[in-house]
Amino acid sequence: MPPIPLIDLKAQQTALQPALGAAIQNILTTTRFIGGPEVETFEKDFANFCGVEEMVSCANGTDALELLLDAWEIGPDDEVIVPAMSWISTSEVVATRGAKPVFVDIDAASYCLDVNLAEAAVTSRTKAIIVVHLYGQPAEMDALIALCKAKNLLLLEDCAQAHGAKYRGRTVGSMGDGAAFSFFPSKSLGAYGDAGACTALNIHHRTSVRALKNHGMPGRRHHHKYHGRNSRMDALQAAVLNVKLPHLTEWIVAKNRHADRYRELLADLEPTHLVLPRMSAETYHGYHLFVIRTPRRDALAEHLREREIATTVHYPTALPLHACYADLGHRAEDFPVAVDLSRTALSLPMFAELTIAQIERVCAAIHEFFAA
Ligand SMILES: *Cc1c(COP(=O)(O)O)cnc(C)c1O
Repeated sequence: MPPIPLIDLKAQQTALQPALGAAIQNILTTTRFIGGPEVETFEKDFANFCGVEEMVSCANGTDALELLLDAWEIGPDDEVIVPAMSWISTSEVVATRGAKPVFVDIDAASYCLDVNLAEAAVTSRTKAIIVVHLYGQPAEMDALIALCKAKNLLLLEDCAQAHGAKYRGRTVGSMGDGAAFSFFPSKSLGAYGDAGACTALNIHHRTSVRALKNHGMPGRRHHHKYHGRNSRMDALQAAVLNVKLPHLTEWIVAKNRHADRYRELLADLEPTHLVLPRMSAETYHGYHLFVIRTPRRDALAEHLREREIATTVHYPTALPLHACYADLGHRAEDFPVAVDLSRTALSLPMFAELTIAQIERVCAAIHEFFAA
């Protein structure tokens, strides 16, 4: 039997090949490699998809977060609250701005920032909260919005894993003061290289971000108002994203269907053996990843690997415990939920083209493991 990958980028590319080939060839023919109509079209269409006024494209998701922090002039002496479990970008961008990342443990059900702990972590120096919709599961936005309003904090959404996910009917990226997206190839909407985008509720900040990502030029060429940088999305990536974006909704629907199938087939396993991702009536999961938890994580991963079923761990280390944060002196006991997730989480194959037969094979192998 052929191996089952974690994410099958080839299946998606094969299905879209004629349109992708034409879109890429068009860029080669016009030689408009930076900016141009493809980038403008993508910004417009992705803004519509997210239900926001305007999207600002940029070079990658990490830059998108940095640009937002820069637009609000977050820097030395400022503290930014971030979850203890995410991809490194979420806290890295705070440190690269010279500000202090203040890590807060995650909620045991949603795996997103624990709002009560976030509230307790606010100090007079706190300027912002970056919330991550981890794995595609939206965070408790209403409580976070209320907290940020009460304490006068900026709320930024890291949507890199959650394109198209919804919280009480609202699409992620449309609820915070600003939001960042990544189009890294394996994300729910992936380019064929690095790409990202961000948005801000307030036009003033959107205008700043647009200037900052293009050498601090708000308008006229050669007039540099701010200390900016080069963080542009190139036209080839925009052309690829334009081919893919019309399919994103159906891909997320398919992934939700696959998640339902996984749940049905794994429902009989005791929670002491295996915990499924949370189901919540308030959220529509984007299923960038389908992450189960089991105390026998490494043995199960090995069992599946022997049967040519790919899995991986998102993420094996809680953010505050990385070497780059050693000076903050954090201990594992300070972040029990994130640390437990780092020891028990396992991402199963999840992509739109996954077949029922493949899901059945994964689940049969999991049952075989726990029966032994
Ligand atoms: C992927 C990711 C990013 C960064 O995106 P890049 O485009 O790789 O820079 C940021 N935050 C989270 C949660 C991510 O998963």
